[in-house]
Amino acid sequence: MSNVIHLLTRRPISSLDEVMPLHAECLACFVHRMVSDQGCTEALRWVEHFRRVRASRATALVRRLRARGASCDCGVLTAVWRPHPGLWEWDEAGQLLPPTGLPACVGVRPNSTQACGHWTPVAQSAHG
Ligand SMILES: [Zn+2]
Ligand SMILES: [Zn+2]
Repeated sequence: MSNVIHLLTRRPISSLDEVMPLHAECLACFVHRMVSDQGCTEALRWVEHFRRVRASRATALVRRLRARGASCDCGVLTAVWRPHPGLWEWDEAGQLLPPTGLPACVGVRPNSTQACGHWTPVAQSAHG
């Protein structure tokens, strides 16, 4: 298959379709799906992959996410966006936990690097 893809996870994948954004899938849902299925690349390689496939003109995307505190793919899902509060789950001890799985992406317009309604932006004033 592709050398580039192989380098992302350091293991072969059975099909390129597994690592392609779905039709209208948003960046956050795509990265969440890739981190769950394939693992974090410990860089922003899934983000860059999404950008090249879906939003090739958004050349500042990785830089922008890094500036918002994401140093790797899974960081995008904690530092930039979090699952919408309505999707979190209570465990038996009464703790609110991030959802393990997400419903199908609500969808975004072509070339968009925004997250869909399953996600809420992390407040930028978190550090005070
Ligand atoms: Zn990570
Ligand atoms: Zn989405």
